[in-house]
Amino acid sequence: MKKVVASGLMILLVVVLGYGQNYIKPVAAMPDYNGTYEGRPNTGSARFTTLYRDNQDNGRTSSCRGEGCGRHPGVDIAVSSGTSVRTPLSGQVTASRCDSGWGGLVVIRSQHPERPWETVRQVFAHLRSRSYANGVAVRVGDYVSAGTTIGQSGGHPKLDSCAGNSTGSHLHYQIDKDDANQGPYFPSSGQLHHRDDNFLVTARTYNPIVLLQGGYTWAFSQNNNRELWDLFNWQSWGVSGDALWMDGGHDPHIRRGGLTHCAVRWMCSSSFAVEADTYKSVYLDLYNGCSAYNAKLYFTTSAEPYWSESKTIPYFPPAIGQFRGTIYAGWHPKWTGIITGLRVDPSESCSPWNFDPTYFGEIAIRR
Ligand SMILES: [Zn+2]
Repeated sequence: MKKVVASGLMILLVVVLGYGQNYIKPVAAMPDYNGTYEGRPNTGSARFTTLYRDNQDNGRTSSCRGEGCGRHPGVDIAVSSGTSVRTPLSGQVTASRCDSGWGGLVVIRSQHPERPWETVRQVFAHLRSRSYANGVAVRVGDYVSAGTTIGQSGGHPKLDSCAGNSTGSHLHYQIDKDDANQGPYFPSSGQLHHRDDNFLVTARTYNPIVLLQGGYTWAFSQNNNRELWDLFNWQSWGVSGDALWMDGGHDPHIRRGGLTHCAVRWMCSSSFAVEADTYKSVYLDLYNGCSAYNAKLYFTTSAEPYWSESKTIPYFPPAIGQFRGTIYAGWHPKWTGIITGLRVDPSESCSPWNFDPTYFGEIAIRR
């Protein structure tokens, strides 16, 4: 019985793979990076240094430290030099050069993911190489589709060529609002370390994480990578066959929205940042082996970052079997602001003495 269920599910999951993978992360191998919203203080993780509108001098000039304080217009994703960098959005290359400040720079002109009439520019900086996976150089005028490798990260001032103005290995990723024929936006050095009280940076750029994370699909396509979902009330679990599976007991569930299972050498952040106004639905593809009733979604927001019954959305999977569907969340009065966490309860109870796991195939927050 167990094997029949598993192989049947795998066939179903193979069919849906690729569907709904609207965006990818700039650094594909990275489990995740943390979200901030318009420089909102204390919503990010300093360990991850993906701060948007952070002061680069640690607040010495502005006497304000952390997110929302400064004029850094992108996110710095701390990764080892040589990490493959992919473009999350399709577009046309408008710059590919070694720049004294930006280092290895690639700029891609793309459509705003929600507003196709609006143009944005993705900026990738401090790349130590600007070439596709096949070794061909990235050139101005090239068209690239989402997911294409456009280079390798760099930024180490001694070990990487064309590191630019960088003190360590990282990818600087930025999304400019279209500004006609000007180059990538960066505040003048005199302004850089000042507070951004007048929202200069917000006027010229988008927070890349908030813009892209809503459409990201957690697909569990890599063995042993549960994409930082935390599991509760489980007896055993694993990631294989394009699914996260969990054999649970009473009230098994998975969730994201905290900082658990992290360690100094294992950088992670299990919270995310999605604009509720734009992303109003949750897509689930799961196979429930448990007796299922009381299936629910819980969510947290930046305004109410705790789990509570007041922020739940029921959904209705079959008693035992597959549920694949889009659950509309926009009706919920508390689905507002920035959604920071999600919990998937597939059933109230499994049979502790049986192997009756739930398989999670894909989870996404969508428009
Ligand atoms: Zn940066």
